[in-house]
Amino acid sequence: MKENKECKIVQDLLPNYIDGLLNNESKEYVEKHLEECKECTNILTNMKENIKTNDTKIEKREVNYLKKFKNKMRILKTILLIIIIIIILVIGRRIIIVTNLANKAENAKDLNNYYARTEGIFGEEYRFNECYYKDGNYIVKMVSYSEKEGKKEIIFYKKGNEQLLLTDSEFGKKISRETSLTAITPLPYYNGNEVIYMALAYGVEKTNLGEIECYVLKDKGQEQYIDKDTGLLVKQINRASNTVTDYKYEFGIVKDEDIQLPDLSEYENIES
Ligand SMILES: [Zn+2]
Repeated sequence: MKENKECKIVQDLLPNYIDGLLNNESKEYVEKHLEECKECTNILTNMKENIKTNDTKIEKREVNYLKKFKNKMRILKTILLIIIIIIILVIGRRIIIVTNLANKAENAKDLNNYYARTEGIFGEEYRFNECYYKDGNYIVKMVSYSEKEGKKEIIFYKKGNEQLLLTDSEFGKKISRETSLTAITPLPYYNGNEVIYMALAYGVEKTNLGEIECYVLKDKGQEQYIDKDTGLLVKQINRASNTVTDYKYEFGIVKDEDIQLPDLSEYENIES
């Protein structure tokens, strides 16, 4: 019984003994008992083993946690990188498409032989423009019709040094010779900056308009259809101003006789 009591005391002390928390007297007491008692020595050994395996379990758990955390971070980084790459690709694609179109349209501006036609509904008004252009000479006819104002016609004519502006409206048929026609660029052209902004903000889609392959740019207020091959505007829809305009072009077909001075007999000269 004495031994059993001693064993109980020693076993109570063992955890602190392992942790090195006992004062010298108790420590000596425990060690002296251990020398004589196999059972308590076994218990001590078991306790030490248990602590070891517990420690390695905790360590393993921490290592696993760290690994999982690192893995999560790696996945997050990869996802972020993929998103950034996709954004760069999408924006890059838009910039490339729009820049290509703008370059093509810029080249079309230098063409010296083309026919262009614009037809559209502008709210209550119907407008029809037609232009024959060859080597710096041109005739542009602009007709508008509305129920309110009836039919109006404006003709710009330029051949060599001769420049004329003919107007036909409710004020009669008038000729003006003193007009600077140089400002007129008959080929309809879209605002490059606006198109680039639209492309970046809202995207570019491929679509077909009749037989024409084109890109369409849309924002809340408008749609612009641009011919893939020429970079020229083929259709424009503006919801704010309630207009729909179609553009048609033909290249290299204009002959000198297409740019003819109209019959001026009915027109009245404006002296200014
Ligand atoms: Zn014992």
